Amino acid sequence: MAKRDYYEVLGVNKNASETEIKKAYRRLAIKHHPDKNPDDKQAEELFKEISEAYAVLSDSQKRANYDQFGHAGVGGAGFGQEGFGFGGGSPFEDIFGDIFGDIFGGSGGRAQRGGRRGDDLRYNLTISFEEAAFGADTKIQVPRLEECAACHGSGAAEGTSPTVCTTCRGAGQVRYQQGFFSLTRPCPDCNGAGKVIENPCPECRGSGRVREQKTISLKIPAGVESGNRLKMSGEGEAGAMGGPHGDLYVVITVKDHPIFQREGRDVICEVPVSFAQAALGCELEVPTLEGKVKLKVPAGTQSGKVLRLTGKGIPSLQGYGRGDQLVVVRVETPTRMTPRQRELLEEFARESGEDMHPMGKGFFDKVKELFG
Ligand SMILES: [Zn+2]
Ligand SMILES: [Zn+2]
Repeated sequence: MAKRDYYEVLGVNKNASETEIKKAYRRLAIKHHPDKNPDDKQAEELFKEISEAYAVLSDSQKRANYDQFGHAGVGGAGFGQEGFGFGGGSPFEDIFGDIFGDIFGGSGGRAQRGGRRGDDLRYNLTISFEEAAFGADTKIQVPRLEECAACHGSGAAEGTSPTVCTTCRGAGQVRYQQGFFSLTRPCPDCNGAGKVIENPCPECRGSGRVREQKTISLKIPAGVESGNRLKMSGEGEAGAMGGPHGDLYVVITVKDHPIFQREGRDVICEVPVSFAQAALGCELEVPTLEGKVKLKVPAGTQSGKVLRLTGKGIPSLQGYGRGDQLVVVRVETPTRMTPRQRELLEEFARESGEDMHPMGKGFFDKVKELFG
């Protein structure tokens, strides 16, 4: 599905000021917030779209990238520059406080609506160099809290159900007076749940959740790098008392490769050639990520020369274009020689005189200038 233009999503024009963008976001976020539209998938999708648009347009750097490159410039596939999604120091945290204030009448906190959201999980996944380059479908085993099947998450033994807490009358918090102020704190009798369980479920001991090994299918996108974070919404711990799942963050580590190194989208590979091959030129079989290819080394190639195999690198994470393979030619000096080889090389040296190595002459001329 094609992504909508972020300006269109927020209903502002391209020259909108920061204030206009913030205003538009507030208005839309309040209207489409999932807590105001329970069980409305469309509102949820809209809310995500609005939040994503705001995350980009409220950040001057990201907005500039977006203006120049479109969705690709800000990781259109859902991958931010410092990782995936909009994790960490999210730009709309500050505004969220305001909005929840508007929705819930100044309480400033998220309303407890049938349970607490589950915790987020982190999973460290090590993948091969090739998997990072081309992507892969894989399965991971994640130990996580699941809703208890015996009590369907209620925490109460079969045939019973939790009762409303009498201390807080189900509110989950109690008011107390401090000086002139009336403050609230979580209810001490139900720990903020608003309900008490008299006969706990024996399977989960009343918690409503049990720890299980969960197999999760995962699509690793082509072009990922070590440190990238893949966010899997709703794959974290189950919520308490029927609350929603947290999210799962898969943090990628890419294994070193025995012959390839990576620099951004380019693959670097050092290939040794003999002194004679470098001098006379040759055709080499060079390994690439997709098997061997032939590469012409021109006569007179110096050690350290970089030859480029266009398009043999790593695909871009944004889904367009591909890097190159850089072949670094390393000329080897012969170490063990037969008497005949030695004889030929000595003859070669005599024949060459001072012109034997092209860079050398210039270098020794400079030395002469400096030291006389
Ligand atoms: Zn249970
Ligand atoms: Zn209570």
